[in-house]
Amino acid sequence: MSDLPPDPPRLRAILTHLERQIAETETVGLYLRLQCEEVRKALARASSAPGRERPAQRPGPRRRAPAAEYLMESKSGPADPLPVVVHAGGCTLRQGRRTPSAITAQQARIVLTDTVIGAEPCPVCRPENKLGIDLA
Ligand SMILES: [Zn+2]
Repeated sequence: MSDLPPDPPRLRAILTHLERQIAETETVGLYLRLQCEEVRKALARASSAPGRERPAQRPGPRRRAPAAEYLMESKSGPADPLPVVVHAGGCTLRQGRRTPSAITAQQARIVLTDTVIGAEPCPVCRPENKLGIDLA
């Protein structure tokens, strides 16, 4: 590592830059994973839709997924003019005919504060207030 500058100010600047890069990469990675999840769900729906090829009903209690803390409406594709929208869990308002995915408070905070994703908070349920973040 002899090509690094010897002085602390420049080393700190490099470190800050690298940390920012890591944060952005992680955010994009998270966003892509959530998009992937959407596609998997759509694929599962598309695969099971025509013939309703579901296994015979099994007895026993039906498992119910826990209520989502936050919901995210992802873009349905690169041409989707609507922004990514984040809702507080339980909000049923939708910007488009998109199926929202459940996300954690931490994920909601990331997508709302990241400029690369540019997600918008729902103007009705105001998830940013629940998260305690100031987006102004
Ligand atoms: Zn909402």
